[in-house]
Amino acid sequence: MCKYAPKDSFNKEDVTIAYFSMEIGLTSKMTNYSGGLGILAGDTIKACADLNIPMVAVTLLNKDGYFKQVIDKDGNQIEEADPWEPHGYTTLCPEIVSIWIQDREVKVRAFKREVKGVGGYTLPVYFLDTDFDHNEEWCQSLTKHLYGGDESYRLAQEIILGIGGFRMLQALGYTVINKYHLNEGHASFLILELLSKTALETEFGWQYKSELVKKMCVFTTHTPVAAGHDRFSFDKVKSFMGAYYPYHMVEAAVADGNLNVTKMALMYSGYVNGVAKKHGEVSRDMFGDSEIDHITNGVHSVTWTSKPFKKVFDKYIPGWREDPFTLRSAWGIPSDEVWDAHLEAKRKLIEIINEKTNENFEENVFTIGFARRFTQYKRPMFIFKNEAALRNIISRSGKIQIVFAGKAHPKDFEGKGILKEVIEKVKDPNLKIKVAFLENYNMELAGYLTSGVDIWLNNPQRPMEASGTSGMKAAHNGIPSLSILDGWWIEGHIEGVTGWAIGEENYRCSGETAEQRELDDFYKKLGMIVRFYYKDRKSWVKVMKNAITINASFFNTHRMVHQYVLNAYFKAGNVVEKPSDSETPKA
Ligand SMILES: *Cc1c(COP(=O)(O)O)cnc(C)c1O
Repeated sequence: MCKYAPKDSFNKEDVTIAYFSMEIGLTSKMTNYSGGLGILAGDTIKACADLNIPMVAVTLLNKDGYFKQVIDKDGNQIEEADPWEPHGYTTLCPEIVSIWIQDREVKVRAFKREVKGVGGYTLPVYFLDTDFDHNEEWCQSLTKHLYGGDESYRLAQEIILGIGGFRMLQALGYTVINKYHLNEGHASFLILELLSKTALETEFGWQYKSELVKKMCVFTTHTPVAAGHDRFSFDKVKSFMGAYYPYHMVEAAVADGNLNVTKMALMYSGYVNGVAKKHGEVSRDMFGDSEIDHITNGVHSVTWTSKPFKKVFDKYIPGWREDPFTLRSAWGIPSDEVWDAHLEAKRKLIEIINEKTNENFEENVFTIGFARRFTQYKRPMFIFKNEAALRNIISRSGKIQIVFAGKAHPKDFEGKGILKEVIEKVKDPNLKIKVAFLENYNMELAGYLTSGVDIWLNNPQRPMEASGTSGMKAAHNGIPSLSILDGWWIEGHIEGVTGWAIGEENYRCSGETAEQRELDDFYKKLGMIVRFYYKDRKSWVKVMKNAITINASFFNTHRMVHQYVLNAYFKAGNVVEKPSDSETPKA
C-alpha cells in the first residue's frame, strides 16, 4: 500500500495536519476515553501512523478516566473512579503555555505518547493537562473528568482543548500546520483563535480572514440528533474567554443566547463530513447544509482482529497488517481454519464469562453479543420484548445464550433504568435462557466480545446510529451482524451474505409502529439464523468468510484515512500548501 511520506519518522516542519479530539482511546489501560468517538480517534491515529501521514494529535489527559462500572446486587450502576497514571504511558514535555479563563491565567502542559505504525513511523499524541502547582484548584481539576462537571466545567475544557491545544502545538514547534481536523465540535473554540491569529490590522480596523480559516479547518460531525450538540451561553463564553476574540464573527451560530459549537465548526470548516453515507444525508437535512459530505467510519484492523484470526491472516494473507484491503482474499482461507480460529476466540470469551458470572455458558451454543453504550435509542431490551417468541425459537431452532455489556452515561438516568431491566433478565429464572452481563465495557472487553460471539446484534432506533463501529470489529473476526439498517450497516449489509437486516431501510412509520414491525421481522430472522447455524455449518462459515472478505477489507481505518487525505486534507481547490508567512498563525 502506498504511504504518504516515505520516512521512518516525522519532522516537525513536515507535520501539516493536527487532529483535535476530546477523547482518544488507544488502549484500555489508558482510561482517558469513554467509547465510540474516542476509539475511532485512536484507530484513526493508528492508521495514520501505519500510512506515514504527517499528523499530530491533541486531546485532554482526562486523568481520572471516564468511570469504572460496577453493578450492585439490585442492578444499579455504580460509578467508581478509574484514574490512569500518565507516566507509565507518556512522557511529560517541558513546554507550558498559558490561556485565560474567566480572567484567570491557566497554565497548560502536555504529556506525549508516540504511536508507532506498522512500518515504524511514529505519530505524536499530546494529552493536555492543567493539574499542576501553577494553577489554582478549580483549574487543576479541568483535565480530570471526561464529560464531567457542569456547563462551566465543560466550557473550560473545550477552551483548553481548542485554544490550549493550538498554543501548545505552536510552543512545541509545529508551526506549519495548515489543516486542523476537529473530531466533533468540542474543539471548535480553535476557530476563534484562528480567526484572531490570522487577522490583519488595517486602517479600517481588524480584517478577519474567514476564507483562510475555512481552508484550514476540517470538521467531522458524529451526532444525528440536534439535542446532542453542545451549546453554551454566549455571555458565559464571552466572560470566560475575555475581550480578545472576534465574537461578532460567530454570531450566526448563536440562537436564544446560546452558542452552538457545532454550528460554529460548520461555518468555518472548508470540508465537513458525517460518518456514514446515511449520516451524511441526515446531517445535510438537520443543518440545511447541502455541502456536507460523508466518509464512513472504519476500525483499525490489527487492533480489532483477535489473536487466533491474526495467526490465520498472517498465514494466508501476509501483508494484511500493512494493507488490510488484502483481506478481500479471505475467501480463499480454508473453512475449517476459519472455524477453528473462531472457536478459539469463542472459548476465550466463554472462559471470561464463566469466570465473572455464574451463567455457565457453553461453547457449542449459539451466542448473541450486544455491547454498546446503554441509552434509550440503542434499545438494549429489544430482544426481550417478546419472550414467547424467543422461547419458541429455542424449542424449534436450537439453544441460544446472550451476552451483554455497556455503560450508561452517569447522567443518563433513562439509560441506567434500561441497564437495570437487562440485569433483571439476567436473573429471571422464568426466561430459561442464559443471559450474562459483563461489567465495565472497555476496549479490552470489546475485543473479546467482538471476536467471541456467533452473531453481533445491533438494534438502534433509526436514524440515530450515526455509524456504529463494533459491528466492523466483529466483521474482522468473521462474525456476521444482525442489525437494523442504520449507520454503517446500510453499506455493509448484503442479506444472507454478510449478515442479516432487521426490518427494511425505508419505511415511513416511526415510534411504536416501527418498533413492532422491526420486532416481527427480528424474531422471524433470528429463528431462521439459529436453525441455519446448527443445521448447515458449512454455509455458515461461508457467511463468516464473507464478513471478512467483503466488510473487513473495506470498513477499516486505512480506507477511511485514504478518504480523509484525498477528500478532506487535500481537497481539490483546497490543496495543502504552506501558507505565506503573514498567514501562518503565530502564538
Ligand atoms: C467499539 C466500541 C464502542 C463503539 O461501538 P458502537 O458500535 O459504535 O456502539 C464503544 N465502546 C467500546 C468499549 C468499544 O470498543
